[in-house]
Amino acid sequence: KSTTVRNIDGSINNIKEDEEDDVVDLAANSLLNKLIRQSLVESSHRVEVLQKDPSSPLYSVKTFEELRLKEELLKGIYAMGFNRPSKIQEMALPMMLAHPPQNLIAQSQSGTGKTAAFVLAMLSRVNALELFPQCLCLAPTYELALQTGRVVEQMGKFCVDVQVMYAIRGNRIPRGTDITKQIIIGTPGTVLDWCFKLKLIDLTKIRVFVLDEADVMIDTQGFSDHSIRIQRALPSECQMLLFSATFEDSVWHFAERIIPDPNVIKLRKEELTLNNIRQYYVLCEHRKDKYQALCNIYGSITIGQAIIFCQTRRNAKWLTVEMIQDGHQVSLLSGELTVEQRASIIQRFRDGKEKVLITTNVCARGIDVKQVTIVVNFDLPVKQGEEPDYETYLHRIGRTGRFGKKGLAFNMIEVDKLPSLMKIQDHFNSSIKQLNAEDMDEIE
Ligand code: ADP
Repeated sequence: KSTTVRNIDGSINNIKEDEEDDVVDLAANSLLNKLIRQSLVESSHRVEVLQKDPSSPLYSVKTFEELRLKEELLKGIYAMGFNRPSKIQEMALPMMLAHPPQNLIAQSQSGTGKTAAFVLAMLSRVNALELFPQCLCLAPTYELALQTGRVVEQMGKFCVDVQVMYAIRGNRIPRGTDITKQIIIGTPGTVLDWCFKLKLIDLTKIRVFVLDEADVMIDTQGFSDHSIRIQRALPSECQMLLFSATFEDSVWHFAERIIPDPNVIKLRKEELTLNNIRQYYVLCEHRKDKYQALCNIYGSITIGQAIIFCQTRRNAKWLTVEMIQDGHQVSLLSGELTVEQRASIIQRFRDGKEKVLITTNVCARGIDVKQVTIVVNFDLPVKQGEEPDYETYLHRIGRTGRFGKKGLAFNMIEVDKLPSLMKIQDHFNSSIKQLNAEDMDEIE
């Protein structure tokens, strides 16, 4: 049995059911993040700033009023429920709204307010009375472009004459059409066609160019080249802005090629730690045995909500069926679901509609585990060749230190996996205690 997965570039992957859910689709993850995000992700780190001109004063703002925005824009921001700029916005907005415009490369994890910031910049630079494209935003996928468009529409609710148009596959506009919308959001391939083949957009009139999700962009075949071709045709006074959630060397290299004389802003990600987590393991013979141990744990402690991780889809399905048959309220989150379906399962779990969430690797990230008291590794995360997957272990169980809440983690281990578990223990220098499956009284 196999599952077909379509990649963002249209190619197709066949995933066998007993394979691990380790095909990470960056664009899908990013969309999932946006769909399930309810509020800002806070960080205790300081924003790091590298100015293109270190001698010029560095401004930061604590309120939106200080930015002297158009009245209708300020109204839009408050209507969205924003009270004050996020950490990254405090530094980024004054640079983005400066006169003359400054170029910017900004990196911070998803949920820190980057989209809101560049949407604000686009809306504040648009001239609603001029009826041609003035702002151009590139996004890696159709769905991500739509998400950004929604933010433009919300924030620009009171900017009545400003309109958005999507340059995405499927939106067919005849050659030479006179586009009167001021903000264009689209994927690089289609935007390229609209500019050069169909002559719908005059790039020399663009004032703000945004490249969003640069890390996802360079991960997609052809998109960096398309973006660079578009950028090369922009006027020198056009403001260029690039955003990324991560900053590997490859992203940095691309950013420097495409954004001339940039200011750079970075906000480091909150580190995960195992410090507040009590970790246990139970030695088991086989799958049924693991399930029995799980039931024992379940029966002996009061559980708020639990996430159970399996290594394969097949195991996850099996476990879900077993638990449902035993009368538990369980939901299954796996990579074969659409992003929308995943978002809705996560939402239901957050709302407490199910107490247990069973999942595979792909979905491990992005779930906010603050409310989850118990994490179970039904299978230990391993890489090929039985080498433990430390990073995944940390992602499943770890929490950011500041949320201080204690958590419990249980590992269901076959005897032959014990060496891997010990390696994990040594790697993180944190103790994982053995539990007797029949006697759970040892849990503190
Ligand atoms: P990113 O682009 O970095 O992923 P977003 O701009 O999408 O972040 O913001 C994440 C969430 O926080 C969204 O729900 C957004 O509406 C909200 N948000 C953004 N800026 C603010 C702010 N200044 N105050 C309150 N909420 C904000």
